[in-house]
Amino acid sequence: MIAHVGQYLQETSARWPAAPAIIGAETSVTFGQLAEQANQIAAALIDVSPLTKCPIAVLLPRAPATVAVFQGVLWSGHFYVPLDPQSPRERLGKILTDLSPLAVVLSQQDHLHLAPILPPHTSVIELEATLLSAPTDIRKTIQLRMEQTIDTDPVYLKYTSGSTGHPKGVVLPHRAVTDYIEWAAATYQLGPDDAIGNQAAFTFDVSVQDIYLCLKTGAPLYLIPESHFSFPANLVDYLSTHKISYFCWVPSVLVSVSKLNLLAGVDLPQLRWITVLGEVMPTRHFQYWAAHCPTATLVNTYGPTETAIASTYYVLDRAFEDDQPLPIGTACRNTEILILDEQQLPVSDQQTGEICIRGSSLALGYWNDPEKTAHAFPEIVHRKHYPEKMYRTGDLGYWNERGELMFVGRLDTQIKHLGYRIELGEIESAASRVVEIHRACVLYDASRQQLILCYESGRELDRGALRKELAETLPAYMLPRVLLHMPTFPLNPNGKVDRQQLQSHYLSQTTTPNGMA
Ligand code: AMP
Repeated sequence: MIAHVGQYLQETSARWPAAPAIIGAETSVTFGQLAEQANQIAAALIDVSPLTKCPIAVLLPRAPATVAVFQGVLWSGHFYVPLDPQSPRERLGKILTDLSPLAVVLSQQDHLHLAPILPPHTSVIELEATLLSAPTDIRKTIQLRMEQTIDTDPVYLKYTSGSTGHPKGVVLPHRAVTDYIEWAAATYQLGPDDAIGNQAAFTFDVSVQDIYLCLKTGAPLYLIPESHFSFPANLVDYLSTHKISYFCWVPSVLVSVSKLNLLAGVDLPQLRWITVLGEVMPTRHFQYWAAHCPTATLVNTYGPTETAIASTYYVLDRAFEDDQPLPIGTACRNTEILILDEQQLPVSDQQTGEICIRGSSLALGYWNDPEKTAHAFPEIVHRKHYPEKMYRTGDLGYWNERGELMFVGRLDTQIKHLGYRIELGEIESAASRVVEIHRACVLYDASRQQLILCYESGRELDRGALRKELAETLPAYMLPRVLLHMPTFPLNPNGKVDRQQLQSHYLSQTTTPNGMA
């Protein structure tokens, strides 16, 4: 098995230089061009500093050149941190301060408005100018820097929502990605005749799977325009026109197609794999896809950012009642799932406990946060004779009578909203900073897919102004749709905010249109 993720592009570009690699809405590149662009980025980074193994922030949109940047970063001996240039500046500023990157790669047009939040001493690499600069032969330096990287070195760092209001940086090593990609490539058997349909943002780890399956197998990667996910009829046309044979999307996208019955009368004979990841897949909608895509195999995969991509998978092999939950299956190769009780000891057969994961896919920990790392990646208590770490997911699950893992829910207030992982505490912390808000509590209504901000304040605040203020710190997908004012919060006997009562209050308001935003 390879030790460095950057080898995939080296091998594939040597084998199929003229084959299409990444197809975006406006630009496309072959594997050869991707390698040339990666070379230019690597050269620019090597020029910046003799240091290696540093974080490089990539503030670029989901586009073919961004994939080249990721590879160039790796070839130069560093690791990349994908960030969304559209995120609120305050949030990005916080992340960049926490990260203190050696360099930031961004587009010329974003440079101006992002300049004020870039930390001092950070080198700036403008994408367009770098790609246009004269090519230099740095193959030997790249080879040397790659050889100096071992498979436990970081490959990327992804920021996820943090309950205290600060996003958490999850650091993944090379081996976590290669270990997973080798399994996925063998399982899905993709090759240059396939076509991968990417939905996930590059800040979300599902995209890691899309990118590296493409770079390893030579299957072109189609970056499906974001607008198609708001108009799912276009999405179905896209699948057909581009003969997409494999995709891994968040379940909410599949649901939006099935709710509108958009597959009726549509033939997608090239579609071989329909895989989902990231949140609970509603059974009825999964079966709808199965019924309309008879050539495809459907797979429900499960896993957190802290263990690269997916840790378990379930291949749909039988019919379910609409209200019967789908299994999340069994462990991917080289992964073990442990179901543990509150003392972190194994539960008895088929009992519910916390899903914990061990194996090569584990992250190294959280960036600059030894406490959170120690809490989330403790040693396995019942393996007494030698130390070994696991990841505590905070998810509850159990093994069913068939030996399949079932997802039950969460131990905390982390939710999935349209595929995005959100700690409700992060929104609460942003709301608490609004001067007139004394206390804030955020609820999630999964059936309506909406976030509800309950806030305690002397008066009802202007909705528009409150939204605007929240949008300064929170990305669009974290903005609450419902704003519920209360002069005082109900408390439980322990003096804590009574979330249950807030929930009832919200439900009573949803029937009165005035209570809705
Ligand atoms: P993320 O770190 O964004 O990948 O989110 C990981 C969390 O998403 C997990 O800890 C679960 O709570 C949830 N999740 C991921 N996949 C599934 C699935 N197939 N079914 C239910 N929940 C899932």
